[in-house]
Amino acid sequence: MSGDDRHRRLNIVLAPTPLAVSERLSDLLGIELFIKRDDLAGPTLGGNKARQLEYHFGAALSEGADTILVTGAVQSNFARLTVAVARAQGMHPIVQLEDRVPGKSDRYLESGNVFLSRLMGAEIMTYPEGEDEAGADAALHERADALRVEGRRPYVIHLSEGHPPLGALGYVDAAKETLDQKGDFDVFVVASGSGSTHAGLLAGLRGAGSSARVIGSCVRRSAAEQGPRVGRTVKRLAKLYPGAASVVDADIRVWDGALMPGYGQLGPPGVEAIRTMATYEGMMLDPVYSAKSFAAVLALVEIGETTRGSRVCYVHTGGLAALFAYEDVMACCS
Ligand SMILES: *Cc1c(COP(=O)(O)O)cnc(C)c1O
Repeated sequence: MSGDDRHRRLNIVLAPTPLAVSERLSDLLGIELFIKRDDLAGPTLGGNKARQLEYHFGAALSEGADTILVTGAVQSNFARLTVAVARAQGMHPIVQLEDRVPGKSDRYLESGNVFLSRLMGAEIMTYPEGEDEAGADAALHERADALRVEGRRPYVIHLSEGHPPLGALGYVDAAKETLDQKGDFDVFVVASGSGSTHAGLLAGLRGAGSSARVIGSCVRRSAAEQGPRVGRTVKRLAKLYPGAASVVDADIRVWDGALMPGYGQLGPPGVEAIRTMATYEGMMLDPVYSAKSFAAVLALVEIGETTRGSRVCYVHTGGLAALFAYEDVMACCS
């Protein structure tokens, strides 16, 4: 099963991930709510990056890479999962942690994903900016060039725009997998950060003939910036997966009602989302991504995105490890 058979894929996700109705949250919200458990996708606490990494590692293996480089925020789930998969493949993992979130506690800097990456013996670099994706990628390439001189074979996973969105192919797969499990939905809700997950899910649904609405909850940029970014990713994806060409501009829906105070910082809607999921389902959300995407589910009727009784699929993208790095933030809000 592959977004496009031209693209080599390493099997990382234990697919299909569970998809089950939540009776209690459905009653609470007056909708029929299903939760797609991509928090269970892949090893070492899982998450959506496991699906994205299937294609990045597929490409890396095709090139004969022995070292993987990735960049992200200090509490990056992408970094932690890249390290885990690299270790399992016998590759050397290098993660670059960006200074992206203001007012960080020691716990933020040392616990959660950073702790796990260190435990797995990752080589850790730092980057002093958090809003310079091209600069962060350039720093990875500089390190990769030095490794080549030493005879290593590095593979860089890019963060900035303009590269083929290989990771989005993982969510083309997830779209088909979800439709095969429970048929179509009225609405899908997912976190929209880099936009790979959002773009891949939307393209995969349209490519499979679904006209479900897909709402991306902004976790990093305002709706005014994120909508066009997702649109550009869909266009680049069409070169890898022709089904993406069926996406039209009106399909790209973003909501930023839970974004503030900003990336990696939790506002009242996110705190409420974490508490609601924990107390109704005994299921954890993370403070950076899934708290903000689930906040969109709680707001769906209010923002006019769905009516009572609609079939809604909430895509839980994981991130559990970061929750421990935010323990003090949750304590002050409770
Ligand atoms: C990275 C991440 C996202 C956002 O995915 P993108 O493809 O970058 O938009 C959502 N949830 C979690 C837990 C993540 O780690």
